[in-house]
Amino acid sequence: MIRDFRIEEHRICVCVRKRPLNKKELTIRDLDVITIPSKDVVMVHEPKQKVDLTRYLENQTFRFDYAFDDSTTNEMVYRFTARPLVETIFERGMATCFAYGQTGSGKTHTMGGDFSGKNQDCSKGIYALAARDVFVMLKKPCHKKLDLQVYATFFEIYSGKVFDLLNGKAKLRVLEDGKQQVQVVGLHERDVKCTEDVLKLIEVGNSCRTSGQTSANAHSSRSHAVFQIILRRKGKMHGKFSLIDLAGNERGADTSSADRQTRLEGAEINKSLLALKECIRALGRNKPHTPFRASKLTQVLRDSFIGENSRTCMIATISPGMTSCENTLNTLRYANRWAHV
Ligand code: ADP
Ligand code: MG
Repeated sequence: MIRDFRIEEHRICVCVRKRPLNKKELTIRDLDVITIPSKDVVMVHEPKQKVDLTRYLENQTFRFDYAFDDSTTNEMVYRFTARPLVETIFERGMATCFAYGQTGSGKTHTMGGDFSGKNQDCSKGIYALAARDVFVMLKKPCHKKLDLQVYATFFEIYSGKVFDLLNGKAKLRVLEDGKQQVQVVGLHERDVKCTEDVLKLIEVGNSCRTSGQTSANAHSSRSHAVFQIILRRKGKMHGKFSLIDLAGNERGADTSSADRQTRLEGAEINKSLLALKECIRALGRNKPHTPFRASKLTQVLRDSFIGENSRTCMIATISPGMTSCENTLNTLRYANRWAHV
């Protein structure tokens, strides 16, 4: 990484992260079809067959602000994505960082940390790394004199409903007042004094997110998780950082055979990801009318998209395998549109 990262001139930064082939892919000898030939380019080499059965590779190239290969650590991804946004919330701004991608592509690994097997280490995820730097920044003399308090919230949006992950998954109402201020009624804002406090909350929230589910990933892949770090000065909001582990963007392979509930969930996810794209495009163009109300996700994030000092970063996570090619291309196309707003 030679290029110095300057987000100041961009309100939106879009990056792609490729994960390594996993055990299952290695077992079935899945092909790695993704290369990252330079720091900002992703190439997909899709094996195809002509009508006469000759085989060839269809190569597609995508360019982003950054492309991270499968050897990149969370710390490194963080440094080039969310790290610059920590400054924003100290400057009275709103920051948002999304992880977008297919289920199993590494969104939770990137945002929440490593939860595979017995490893339950959330200290290496972007939630925790951002919190760590918030407390470092807080100690700077220029910030110390502001007397800022730090709070954290952690909630989940599932099928258009909001649940508090720091309060036993209590269902919350979202209200909009006459001034279009959106409020998540009763959302617990926890007072946090140090990184350890935040790590505990992330653990609580994560176990709450997956508890009582027959298959943890099946559930979490259909919900958006929103972790927020809020700075307050004399009770008033000074800045807010929303870090979001989005629902998996894959379409059901055969939606007609899926049960009604699954189809509804899928439709809701598509709707919210589409609304998100629209809102980001509007943000990039400073358009006054933005379809926030089109989904619960964009509605609750409304205050982060408006305002002079809002910055957004998206990390599109991709699986390397040929078996994921179609989903990977969908992710890259979605992210690509973001990259050029
Ligand atoms: P998602 O949240 O997108 O469904 P996960 O973050 O749960 O995907 O990742 C699926 C699996 O792949 C997990 O076991 C995770 O530990 C592993 N994984 C994801 N990204 C990486 C990475 N960059 N390096 C190593 N393992 C990864
Ligand atoms: Mg996940």
